[in-house]
Amino acid sequence: MQTSVIGFPRIGTLRELKFASEKYFRKEIDSDELEKTAETLRQTHWNTQKAAGIDYISSNDFSFYDLVLDTAVLLGIVPKRYQELKLSDLDTYFAMARGYQGECGDVKALAMKKWFNTNYHYIVPEVEDDMEIKLSGNKPLQEYKEAKALGIETKPVVIGAYTMLKLCRYTGKKKACDFLDEICKAYQELIAQCEKEQIAWIQFDEPALVQDMEKEDVELFHKIYEQILPHAKKCQILLQTYFGDVRDIYPDLIKMPFAGIGLDFIEGKETFQLIEKYGFPEDKLLFAGLVNGKNIWKNHYEKTLQILDALREKKIQVVLSTSCSLQHVPYTLKHEQKLSQEYLSYFAFAEEKLIELQELSALAENNEYRKDAVYLKNQKLFAGDRKCENEDVKRRMALVTEQDYIRLPQRKERQQLQKKVLKLPELPTTTIGSFPQTKEVKANRSAFRKGEKTEQEYVEFNKKKIAECITWQEEIGLDVLVHGEYERNDMVEYFGEALGGFLFTEKAWVQSYGTRCVKPPIIWGDVYRKKPITVAWSVYAQSLTEKVVKGMLTGPVTILNWSFPREDISIKESISQIALAIRDEVLDLEANGIKMIQIDEAALREKLPLRKSDWYKEYLDFAIPAFRLTHSGVKPETQIHTHMCYSEFTDIIPAIDDMDADVITFEASRSDLQILDSLREHNFETEVGPGVYDIHSPRVPSVEEIVNALHIMLTKVDREKLWVNPDCGLKTRGVAETDASLRNMVKAAKQIRNQG
Ligand code: GLN
Ligand code: ZN
Repeated sequence: MQTSVIGFPRIGTLRELKFASEKYFRKEIDSDELEKTAETLRQTHWNTQKAAGIDYISSNDFSFYDLVLDTAVLLGIVPKRYQELKLSDLDTYFAMARGYQGECGDVKALAMKKWFNTNYHYIVPEVEDDMEIKLSGNKPLQEYKEAKALGIETKPVVIGAYTMLKLCRYTGKKKACDFLDEICKAYQELIAQCEKEQIAWIQFDEPALVQDMEKEDVELFHKIYEQILPHAKKCQILLQTYFGDVRDIYPDLIKMPFAGIGLDFIEGKETFQLIEKYGFPEDKLLFAGLVNGKNIWKNHYEKTLQILDALREKKIQVVLSTSCSLQHVPYTLKHEQKLSQEYLSYFAFAEEKLIELQELSALAENNEYRKDAVYLKNQKLFAGDRKCENEDVKRRMALVTEQDYIRLPQRKERQQLQKKVLKLPELPTTTIGSFPQTKEVKANRSAFRKGEKTEQEYVEFNKKKIAECITWQEEIGLDVLVHGEYERNDMVEYFGEALGGFLFTEKAWVQSYGTRCVKPPIIWGDVYRKKPITVAWSVYAQSLTEKVVKGMLTGPVTILNWSFPREDISIKESISQIALAIRDEVLDLEANGIKMIQIDEAALREKLPLRKSDWYKEYLDFAIPAFRLTHSGVKPETQIHTHMCYSEFTDIIPAIDDMDADVITFEASRSDLQILDSLREHNFETEVGPGVYDIHSPRVPSVEEIVNALHIMLTKVDREKLWVNPDCGLKTRGVAETDASLRNMVKAAKQIRNQG
């Protein structure tokens, strides 16, 4: 059976591309040297796939920053303000990705957004009314030729026209459909070039097909491919989808003249049923996405081979494929020295997934595969005891009742009580938790990790920082203080390390955006709290001041969403376990005198399922109760806060209110505050702190600016329900700008209070 890879990670096993690009940004190397690194990486990736016997290897899956941006540039979608900088092509590209400030001008970067339901972010292309979309580059062909010169036949991958039209932002009056003919012409030309080069296959990625499609969307898709497909003669077109099933368009899709269709069997809940119901044409290839491109667990061969058997019984010609690009998993297990073989034997990163494809393809061709040693070894792994269960956790989960998900008394009553006890002024001022992570703060952590500092030295340093931070906040005049989060590198890793059931890798980086990578922890087993995590820091901070210090935790949904989840139990079960662990910490903080506790759910909104119909039953129906489980045990006067990084929750406001927090802070300074109207319409009960300034930039907001923002907010939010805070944590900001901004914020709040 033939095998295919949708895309390979591009940043390098040891993040070579990241380091080279950053050197280039700092002008330490020139573009030739950067190109050389890129070329070496591409060669390595192709050779690795070739050596693993992959039949359909991708080219043009390499990118200096982002594939959507690459495709935008390929189609000439470069806003004027970037062209006017008159930079080289490469620097114009980077200006769009990262912004530009220098001799040639000053422009901000294009916006970034989450790539469907992943933790990867793409650059949002901007289409201007007077722009002409046309084929303006030859990256796909160049990379194809580069591979060909190495003796490797590849399929160039390009994001499809439908997905591109859906992802672009239209800055003028025109809409997607107004660019239909132009974009189709560009793809026709691209195909013509591939024909000329005698390229056998092109892959058009159309992940937008797994989202809800309206009638107009289906029509748009038809119009696009009716124009494009007739231009493919010898060159075969693979329509590749991923991140879900294509239920809204499947019956149409199989009638269209694609030579191959790629479907996701991992996240596509209905993929198999669609094939059962509507069949799959014998003259097309089905690229069956059965090797998970998003998670790091080994493939269960028995299950996969059962599906392959069933597909072949239907006389379908199958190519075995990954479920999505492998860019969402780390490169290789080779560099993991610290995890035992026992653990490692359960994982497959990108390179190991290539081996899985190879093994599965051989097994699929063997009628007697059940006797094959490779198969048996895999069977044994899955039949064995993974030692991931914890009886105490199970027992405790079993004792959780409906009552544990309900905090009493009702919020309105609590809010009155809290006002009396906490005695905060109107429009209380606070921050989101972290304070600037200076060089010394990072050095302290890293020295401790490397064993260059004793625990005592490490703790002493942090205590000194906390004390400084408390004095600083008192001087600024903030009402609710925080300890500053100097002990944390990352809001998930820090908690994961203190919880039983988590594993950590050394080099398992996954691209988050551009040159930025993250190293998500792995949820290996049942999760529980080993010991108090933040209590000592918070209690110390509180001991230094009369003002209220807010405890600071990460919530269960965010911890799960930013980790590699288990596949042997449901997400719902995992989240509930994490919720109980965080609940222990919440109750411990309270028992130790902490009166206010913030439980961050930065990633709650971003993991909403792609289809609206799945929002509640597949996610919110358990994610929201899990959050309630963390705090339902506290006293009525203990105030629970939560924080979310986006304000784009207009469509799930009742669910957010259902978290039953007393206060929520969120990003609003960059959006148009429309969210506040929606909150009002829904009689939102939770008190709110819509960020009054943007912490993502070093700019210091003036008092007047903040006063104005607050005035607008007060027209939409009841005075007794409004909090005053920045829109996110301050850890990436400098000390001077933080000081100035917070002082202005406090002045602004006071000014409004005095106006009565
Ligand atoms: N408490 C965290 C901080 O202030 C929240 C971070 C976040 O929302 N991403 O850094
Ligand atoms: Zn935030």
